Amino acid sequence: MATLLVDKRDQLFVLNEMLHIEELCRHPKFKEVSGFEMVLTEAHRFARSVFLPTIEPGDREGCAFDPKTASVKLPECFQSAYEKFKEGGWLAMCDSREVGGDGFPMSIGTAVAEIFYAAGFYIFGAAELCHAGAKVLELFGTDDQKALYMTRLYSGEWMGTMCLTEPDAGSDVGAIQSTATPNADGTYRLTGTKIFISAGEHDLTPNIIHMVLARVEGDSPGTRGLSLFIVPKYLSDDNGNLGERNDVVCTGIERKMGLHGFPTCTIAFGDKGHCTAYLLGERGKGIMEMFHMMNEQRLLVGVQGLSYTSAAFLHAVEYARNRKQGSSVYAARSEAEEQVTIVTHPDIKRMLLTMKAYAEGGRALAYYIGWCIDHAGVTDGQERERWHGLVGLLTPVLKAYLTDNAWQMTGLAIQCAGGNGYCSDYPFERLARDCKVAAIYEGANGIQAIDLLFRKLLADKFVHFSELMKQIDQTIIVAGSNSSLESCANAVKDIKDKLEQVVTHLIALAEAKNMPSLYAKAAPLLETIGDVILGWMHLWQLTIAYPRLKELDGEETEPETLCKKKDGAFYYGKVACARFYIETLLKRTDGKISELRSDADPVVYMFDKSFSG
Ligand SMILES: Cc1cc2nc3c(=O)[nH]c(=O)nc-3n(C[C@H](O)[C@H](O)[C@H](O)COP(=O)(O)OP(=O)(O)OC[C@H]3O[C@@H](n4cnc5c(N)ncnc54)[C@H](O)[C@@H]3O)c2cc1C
Repeated sequence: MATLLVDKRDQLFVLNEMLHIEELCRHPKFKEVSGFEMVLTEAHRFARSVFLPTIEPGDREGCAFDPKTASVKLPECFQSAYEKFKEGGWLAMCDSREVGGDGFPMSIGTAVAEIFYAAGFYIFGAAELCHAGAKVLELFGTDDQKALYMTRLYSGEWMGTMCLTEPDAGSDVGAIQSTATPNADGTYRLTGTKIFISAGEHDLTPNIIHMVLARVEGDSPGTRGLSLFIVPKYLSDDNGNLGERNDVVCTGIERKMGLHGFPTCTIAFGDKGHCTAYLLGERGKGIMEMFHMMNEQRLLVGVQGLSYTSAAFLHAVEYARNRKQGSSVYAARSEAEEQVTIVTHPDIKRMLLTMKAYAEGGRALAYYIGWCIDHAGVTDGQERERWHGLVGLLTPVLKAYLTDNAWQMTGLAIQCAGGNGYCSDYPFERLARDCKVAAIYEGANGIQAIDLLFRKLLADKFVHFSELMKQIDQTIIVAGSNSSLESCANAVKDIKDKLEQVVTHLIALAEAKNMPSLYAKAAPLLETIGDVILGWMHLWQLTIAYPRLKELDGEETEPETLCKKKDGAFYYGKVACARFYIETLLKRTDGKISELRSDADPVVYMFDKSFSG
C-alpha cells in the first residue's frame, strides 16, 4: 500500500538525480546527517504501518464533541499512532540539534512530509501545527517561554494551534476583534471567539498551546495593531506541571465535507473573564510573527495538495491495471474481441498521464523549494537573499497551484475508476473530499494570487521573478543543446518569453493605477506562472531522464522490451510524461496568456445586480 501513496523511485530521482542532494549534504551544516534514503524507507514503512490504519476510522468515525465536558474525542487508534510518531522524533527532523532536532535538510523533510500527508493527514496535519508554533517561539520567545513551551511543542509532548479566524475575520485578518487587556503582573486577559481552529481541542496531549492573534485594547486598527499571544489550555509551573484550567473552552466542532478525523473547533477565550495570555515577541508585531507560522504552513499545505494528487494517481493506475472493459484499439480487428484492462485505452492513458505530470512536476517543485530553503541556510549576504527571495516568490505558487490541481486530479482519478471511483469502498472520493480545503485554508488561493502579484512581483519590482526566469533559461540552454530535446526546449522558451511579455502588460496596468483589472488578473496569472514553472520542472527532468534512457536503450531497443527492465520503464515514463506535459498540456497556457494580455475587462465591468435575475 505504501507504494500507492508516493512513488519512492520518483522521490529518489528528484533528490538524487535532479537536486544532487549528496552535494548539499557535504556542507558542514549537514555533515552529521547521513542515510537519508534509509530515512525515506523508514518514513514509507511508518506511514504504511502506523498512519494508514488511522485513515478509515478517521474518515468514518470522525471526531466527537461532547457539549457537557466541552471535549473532543478522536478515534481510539489515533492515540497510539501519535505516541509512535512522537517517539520517532519525526516532528523536529529538520530543526537544529540545539532545539532537539536532527538537522536534516528541508528538501528531505519535504519528501517525508509528502509521505506522511498521503498516509495520515489527520494526525500529521495536527502535529505540523505544533511544529509551526515551536518555530515561532524559537524565533521570538523569551528564554523562559522557549524552555516551557517550545521544547514541549518540538517534542510533541504538547500540541499547538494557530488562531486567526473569527466569524467576521477570515481573509480579512485585520478585522480581528479578540482583545487583550494588560494585567498588573505583565500577563494579559484575553477575550474573543475563534472559529475553524485546527486541532483546537482533542485528547491526544495533556495540554494545548494556542497561538492567538488579538489586539491590545487601544492599539491601532487593522493588521498593524495585532499582537501574538501564547494561551495555554492549562496553566502550568515553570517545569510544565499542569495547574489550573485556563478560561479557554471549545464550544463546538465544524461539520465538514472532508477531513472528518481532523478536529476543527470553535474556541471561546475568556467567556468567564479570566483567560490568561502571555505576549509573544513585540506588542503590535503579531502579524509579522504569525507570518513565520503561516509561511511554513503554506508550503506544507502545498505539499498536502501534492500528496493527494500523488495518492489519487497511484490508486488510479492500480485500478486501471486491474479493471477489464472493452477491447483494444491497438489490436487488429479479428483480435479485438478480447476484453482488455482499461489502462490500455487512450482516454484512460491521457487521464493517467495528466495526473502523473502534475504529481511528478509538483513533487519536483516542492522539493526544489525545500532545496532553496536549504541553500539559504548555508549561504550569506546577497546569495542568501537570492534564495530567500525565490522561496518567497514560489510559496504562494506552491500553495495555490498544487492545491487547485489536487482538486482537479482527484476528480480525474474518480473518473478513471468510474462508478467505483464515486463510492466509499475505494479511496478516491475521500481523497477528493479531503483535498478541497487545502485550496481554502492558510489563505484562500485567491488571496495567495493577490500576494503573488502585489507583494512578490510588483512590490519586489520583479527582481526575484527575473532570477527565476534566469534559472529557467539555464535549463532551456542545456535542453536545447541536445537535438532530440530541442523542440521541447523551444516550446518552454516560447511560453516563458510570452510570460515575460505579460509582465510588461502588468507593469503598464500598475502605472495606470488600473487596480480592478490587476486584481481580476491575479488568479489567472498565478495559474499561468504555475504552468510555466511546471514546464521548467519537466524540461529539467527531461535533460536527466533522456540521456539515462539512451544509455539503457543501447541499439534502439523496442520500447516494450526496454520497459520490461525496471529502470527502462521508469526513465521511459519520465520522458513520456515530460513530453506530454510540454507538448500537450503546456499548449493550453498560450490561451491563458492571451487572456492575461487582453485589454477586455469583462470581470471588471460585471456588477453584482447582474449576476442573477
Ligand atoms: C478545515 C479548516 C481548517 C482551518 N484551520 C484554521 C486554523 O487552524 N486557524 C485559523 O485561524 N483558521 C483556520 N481555518 C480558517 C481558514 O483559514 C479560512 O476559512 C480562510 O482563511 C478563508 O476565510 P473565510 O472562510 O472567512 O472566507 P472569506 O474570507 O469570507 O473568503 C471567501 C472567498 O472570498 C475571497 N476573498 C475574501 N477577501 C477577498 C479579497 N480582499 N479579495 C479577493 N478575494 C477575497 C476568498 O479568496 C474566498 O474565495 C480553517 C478552515 C477550515 C475550513
